[in-house]
Amino acid sequence: MALSEDFLEQLRFRNDIESVISSYVNLRKRGQTFVGLCPFHNEKTPSFTVYPNTQSYYCFGCASGGDVVTFIKQIENLDYIEAVKFLADRVGMSLPSDNYDDSLSKQRGRIYEANKQAAKFYHKTLIEGTDRTGAKYFIARNLTKQTVTQFGLGFAPNEWSALYNHLHSLGFSNEELLLANLIRKSEKNGRTYYYDNFRNRVMIPIIDLRGNVIAFGGRVLDDSKPKYINTSDTPVYKKSQGLFALNFAKDHSSEFLILVEGYMDVIALHQAGIKNAIACLGTALTSEQAHIISRYSPEVIICYDNDEAGQKATQRALEIFRKTGMKTRVLTMSGGKDADEIITKHGVGKFKKLIDQSANDTEYKLLKLRDKYNVALPDGKTSFLIEAAKMLATVESSIERDIYAGRLSQELNVSKEAILLEINNVARRLRRNAQQQEIKRKTEESIGHKDKLNPERAENLAAAVAEERLILHLMFNNNRLEYITARISANDFVTKFNARVFKSVCDAITRNNSFEIGMLAETYSPEEMGRIAKIQSSSSSLANTVTECDDCIKRIKEEKRKKEQVPASEMDDEQFKNAFIRKKKN
Ligand SMILES: [Zn+2]
Repeated sequence: MALSEDFLEQLRFRNDIESVISSYVNLRKRGQTFVGLCPFHNEKTPSFTVYPNTQSYYCFGCASGGDVVTFIKQIENLDYIEAVKFLADRVGMSLPSDNYDDSLSKQRGRIYEANKQAAKFYHKTLIEGTDRTGAKYFIARNLTKQTVTQFGLGFAPNEWSALYNHLHSLGFSNEELLLANLIRKSEKNGRTYYYDNFRNRVMIPIIDLRGNVIAFGGRVLDDSKPKYINTSDTPVYKKSQGLFALNFAKDHSSEFLILVEGYMDVIALHQAGIKNAIACLGTALTSEQAHIISRYSPEVIICYDNDEAGQKATQRALEIFRKTGMKTRVLTMSGGKDADEIITKHGVGKFKKLIDQSANDTEYKLLKLRDKYNVALPDGKTSFLIEAAKMLATVESSIERDIYAGRLSQELNVSKEAILLEINNVARRLRRNAQQQEIKRKTEESIGHKDKLNPERAENLAAAVAEERLILHLMFNNNRLEYITARISANDFVTKFNARVFKSVCDAITRNNSFEIGMLAETYSPEEMGRIAKIQSSSSSLANTVTECDDCIKRIKEEKRKKEQVPASEMDDEQFKNAFIRKKKN
């Protein structure tokens, strides 16, 4: 522990949890609390709750929770010290410069710096280097000088250690460059060799929303494989969360964002004035990326290539976006295989027209479904309608279902009532299945199959509930610390997790004469903080009386005794005697 509690208290006080969280989540007031759609899992009805009075949050859907520092850790993907810094910056506080452990954030700082220097090196090599192949490639793709500068594009020369030598001369160590994934190493005949990760490729730097270079995409100049090499996960970069050009597109995203397949498509679109285009980085869309996208725009238009792989990816992306609740449309390419080609061949006007014509996800799915059947034949028509009903049953809005049923009825000359009946039958079946799933999940949860944080809880429910109640009592009745610790210690607890939490709460109160959940943020993981926030969130049921406190202590001790009791048949003499004495005392 190195940051003073005074400083942290100031920090938490000035970063009010509601105002911090509301810049990420749309919060609505509900009684004493605020609720919104959880930014950490997919949901359509809000289960993410913010408690202003305890300055904590808890999600009843995914069990994440904690204080304001935990929230920033989780949502910005930072470590503890970085999250503290982030919040300090936010309110113009400076960190006391003494001895907190910031080795991890220093390391990340070095990687950012190495990436920045690498980007500069690649850019300079592109512009001034003797090898002109990189420049020729961009010229052939019709990129202007302005675009090359805006995106910081570069060229990695066809040499084994050009970047390595350059960054070494700037003082970066092998370890730092390996961590940044800028170089690789190989062992041969007992010797270690280091060499550049990117060679003879045009280089596209990936820049995060704060302007840091976090990764690179490197594209070959010919048809050799792999077409792209991308930075793998590093301490500053997680592939599953990376989105290319969001740093530019976020300022043009109030209506919608356009998700395309490749870096070059994005760059071509931006150059043509369509500045809300982004791309995933070397992966299929992940739900993490979909979440980030939904934070920046109400709608996304999926614009993948017109081949089979692109169409499959579109189907997957539709499913993923559906869970975020955001509006989704699909653009069908025509006049070229990708955005870049359409713009080059037909101009940007053609592409804008395609945007206007793009179908919402229901229309798109119906179209794709229809391609599979010959609806001119009665059999084909029936099969298509059955499949279409299955699909429409998953559409939540009944108005939307009615509209599509009407359209299908007209197009296929079948009564609208019959189509709606079929849809509703399927929908009812789906609902029943979902309910059964839900019951199954709840049962499993209550048996504790899924409780990884406190695996002993399910088997010792009575003890665990009393423990949690005592912890809760202490959180809100700090003046009873001595009273409680004189009667019970963490060793008397049955479940290890609760014992640990109890001890931390006692320590925090001893140190600070008060308790706030944020005092635990440094030592507990976001998941653990979630559990603690959950315990804290049930405070409305507290009686705050000494009796309540005594009852909990008594219950915990009883349960502990039961647990430790060895069956009489297996006792040795000593144990038998002790058990007898204890019984008499009761
Ligand atoms: Zn959640």
